[in-house]
Amino acid sequence: MSNFDEIIKVLQENNNFLITSHINLDGDGIGSELALYFILKKLNKKAIILNQDRLPKIYDFLPDSGKVHYLEDNSVNPKKIDVVIALDCSNIKRIGKTYEIFKDIKTIINIDHHKSNENYGSINYVDYSTSSVGEIIYELIKSIDIDLLDEKISTCLFTAIMTDTGSFRYSNISSKTFGVASHLTRNGIKPHLIANNIYNRNTYPGLKLLGEALLTLEINESSCVSWLIITRKMLNNTNANNEDIEGIIDIATTLNNVEISILFRETKNNKIKVSFRSKGNFDVNKFAGKFKGGGHPNAAGCLCSGKLEEIKESILSELFDDIKYLGYEN
Ligand code: AMP
Ligand code: MN
Ligand code: MN
Repeated sequence: MSNFDEIIKVLQENNNFLITSHINLDGDGIGSELALYFILKKLNKKAIILNQDRLPKIYDFLPDSGKVHYLEDNSVNPKKIDVVIALDCSNIKRIGKTYEIFKDIKTIINIDHHKSNENYGSINYVDYSTSSVGEIIYELIKSIDIDLLDEKISTCLFTAIMTDTGSFRYSNISSKTFGVASHLTRNGIKPHLIANNIYNRNTYPGLKLLGEALLTLEINESSCVSWLIITRKMLNNTNANNEDIEGIIDIATTLNNVEISILFRETKNNKIKVSFRSKGNFDVNKFAGKFKGGGHPNAAGCLCSGKLEEIKESILSELFDDIKYLGYEN
């Protein structure tokens, strides 16, 4: 899929845009939002970025990161929106409470790379062969006018691609991804500084939380599944916050022979958020779908109601059945 004509027409014919992304904002969502924001400004359009959640601190180095608004700062007048652009959201639920603000707006452009995307927009551009929405926005800019690509936009898009590919380690990258990254680095950006900002600014409470979480690490008999727990008590003890949880699941995945890892954590609304990662062919998006969640083949999640121990037992038992059936336990 490479036809952006319909989207470009809507961008040209309207003036007031609202750009949004998913709850638990990530680098792909934020980087893509800011890149699109800068493009719309260059096209002399009015644009506002609004998400349910606050910008995670690790992304505050991005150019104009102060323009990434969240619901509680009350900066948006919905009467002035012509078009909503939802980035990196597989369904409306993923947009969160922000959806309430624009649910009466007719034109919603849904740009995404999740296989589980529900085509909820009036225009849907979903390409799950791409690493990230950042890569799609790059192609969109190429279709508009590649000269619009400057250092600021390149920094945002590189951040989107780098974070959604686990720094170019995941199976979602293609030679095209490297081609895009290479082009972006020709625009004066500093990949090592971007990486330092995102990965080398751990907090003390965050590392203490990692220590507590690692004490809960378990593996199954055949060592192909690992799992961890983060409770509210652990967050309180260490003084850590939600942002400090990012990346902890990935450490459980680095275990030799582990194919699938899971993080069970208690949210402040008494729910259990479950994160899944896989290194090989096991499709965690499909697996998370059994629990009304979704995501990508190698990174997915779901939100469950109930007691942590019970949810853990039921998800693990379902997973053990699946891997037995798929022959992982040889
Ligand atoms: P996380 O474990 O929160 O880092 O999420 C990993 C990926 O799974 C994200 O990039 C989302 O695409 C997806 N995801 C997480 N939670 C959900 C959910 N409740 N429903 C659908 N997709 C999800
Ligand atoms: Mn995302
Ligand atoms: Mn993404």
